Amino acid sequence: MTGPLVRRLAASSMSRFPSIKPKQSGVVLVPGHSAEVEGRSLFPTTVNTVDDPRVKRLLKSGHNSRKIGRRVEKGRLTMAPIFTLTLEERKTCPRSCKTWRSCYGNGMPYAQRLVHGPQFEAMLWAALADLQRKHPRGFLVRLHVLGDFYSVEYVDLWAEALVAFPALNVFGFTARNPVSDPIGQAIDRVASSNWLRFAVRWSGKSGDRFASRVIPDGETEDPDAITCPAQIGKAENCARCALCWQSTRSIAFLRH
Ligand code: SF4
Repeated sequence: MTGPLVRRLAASSMSRFPSIKPKQSGVVLVPGHSAEVEGRSLFPTTVNTVDDPRVKRLLKSGHNSRKIGRRVEKGRLTMAPIFTLTLEERKTCPRSCKTWRSCYGNGMPYAQRLVHGPQFEAMLWAALADLQRKHPRGFLVRLHVLGDFYSVEYVDLWAEALVAFPALNVFGFTARNPVSDPIGQAIDRVASSNWLRFAVRWSGKSGDRFASRVIPDGETEDPDAITCPAQIGKAENCARCALCWQSTRSIAFLRH
């Protein structure tokens, strides 16, 4: 990771809350880096197929991330367990992503990424069915710690899962464009019709609702958004904050 093709910015720029900060990092790929050109993770050995013995489960407990938390502690989903899903950054993301070279996955050498595709989708469905059985009163999935919605069919899977598994709730961020990208259009259809259970925000979009943005360098706040409470010491983690799935207000993140 620290080879000549990767420029590490000041060590202090690594986020205190890397798992909840969308699409930014202290590690920026230099133009022409193979991970940039090929559209893949900087850490290919961490990208595993779902039948790889190293993959213990597709949906990991939020307990594994101190910035997510094990169970929701406030709001309508109180007591719901939280799970996270991690795909391969860049491979599943739109090339239009403004942080294509500076994705915060560049600073996550140990995160296990799942190979996407039909096999993954079949096992994801089975995993959601299992969670529905175990947590019929509600569970929450954070999409995607890394990666993004990669096809219209994959978005449709989530739309169908919301119907099949009434305990399922989702929150997350996407770099897809809701107007010009068919995948973004599909996300928009699901989120617009069922925001309460599919709270997926548009990364970098303007406006005071349904967006997530990084506060520009030199500024301390975004007047149209709520600054992520976990980044300013007002909440310990997502479980204790709940804003992302409770509120439609845009969320702003500090760049460290
Ligand atoms: S606003 Fe709250 S729920 Fe959203 S990322 Fe920050 S801590 Fe998590």
